[in-house]
Amino acid sequence: MPDPKFAKPWHGIPREEIDWHPTVNEEACIGCGTCVTGCGRLGYRFDFARKKSVVYDPLNCLLGCTTCANTCPSNTISFPPLEYVAELLSRPEDMLLFWGVTDTSDFYHLDYLQEWIKKDSNFKIWLAARTNYNRFVPPNGLIFYEGTVYGALKKADVYLTNCDVYLAGPAKTVRATLDVLAEKGVPRDRIFIDSFVR
Ligand code: SF4
Ligand code: SF4
Repeated sequence: MPDPKFAKPWHGIPREEIDWHPTVNEEACIGCGTCVTGCGRLGYRFDFARKKSVVYDPLNCLLGCTTCANTCPSNTISFPPLEYVAELLSRPEDMLLFWGVTDTSDFYHLDYLQEWIKKDSNFKIWLAARTNYNRFVPPNGLIFYEGTVYGALKKADVYLTNCDVYLAGPAKTVRATLDVLAEKGVPRDRIFIDSFVR
């Protein structure tokens, strides 16, 4: 089981989506245990029966760290090329839209939104309405949540720590959304607000 203390999202990318971990060439491993004792993130276990080290929790591994490979006397530990990390950093960022209304009949131009998400796979949209008028069914590709927009945000499995957030709405909604953003680890100086009284 990866340790949640280590297996955190990296630059907003869920750790499970990142293929960065050591690989041990078992044939060449002399079983010295240096990698097991040297990794502060408990990435390895030692298989005493076979006298080999085993990568036990690959998701615990720190992005860009290659300490175990550098200290292995048999030079038998490998990693993906560092270009892989550079590619991750340069991949297009997700753009997320959470749109909340009182009633589902208040939504408009959903066909436009559908076109946008078709053109850009990094664009994701959540619709939220407190009242589901006439058993609303969202168009394909759009996610619907019955409730408040901050409720949708709270429930959504999204990583926002490296995002800029643009927040517009009535003061009460803005306040509630700020609480959710704080829970999700968004720094206050990355939130831009347009609040109005209704
Ligand atoms: S440091 Fe290298 S040789 Fe030693 S146990 Fe780990 S993989 Fe094997
Ligand atoms: S690269 Fe660093 S964090 Fe990853 S397993 Fe090796 S020592 Fe541990």
